[in-house]
Amino acid sequence: MRGTLSAALELVSPATIASDDIANPCLSCGACCAHFRVSFYCGEVAGENGGYVPLELVQPLGPLRVCMVGTEMGHGRCVALRGELGQPGIHCAIYENRPSPCREFEVWQPDGSVNPDCQRLRLARGLPALNPRPDAGNDPLGPQHPDHPAAA
Ligand code: SF4
Ligand code: SF4
Repeated sequence: MRGTLSAALELVSPATIASDDIANPCLSCGACCAHFRVSFYCGEVAGENGGYVPLELVQPLGPLRVCMVGTEMGHGRCVALRGELGQPGIHCAIYENRPSPCREFEVWQPDGSVNPDCQRLRLARGLPALNPRPDAGNDPLGPQHPDHPAAA
């Protein structure tokens, strides 16, 4: 059962983490991976349905839904999270195979402003507030455009 987990750990290399660290605040955070119940449709689980999330890392919630082990009750740390919360190098051991809620929860919104839930979780962990996406000022619909002031 744990054999697949070991294989999954190889999906994220230290080189990948290092190269992304500057641009990706998630790699020194991890707050959302230790807060939400990460639930999703069971078809995303690896198996005959063509899913990809490792079976041994999920817990059934009902006939059609599962969640990541550790997140069942909320405010729990996902089993796939590696490293120390808020410290450089924290990462998802199954990044390439993470479920849809993890793919959909983004740091920045389409206009470049910070996802308010992300900001809230960071501040609750004592982490510094994030700024709008660095290139948002060049986005005609970005939060720094005079016609679109930054979100409060
Ligand atoms: S709370 Fe925000 S910055 Fe932290 S890991 Fe989640 S998405 Fe990334
Ligand atoms: S699967 Fe990965 S991205 Fe999703 S909550 Fe767990 S550690 Fe975070």
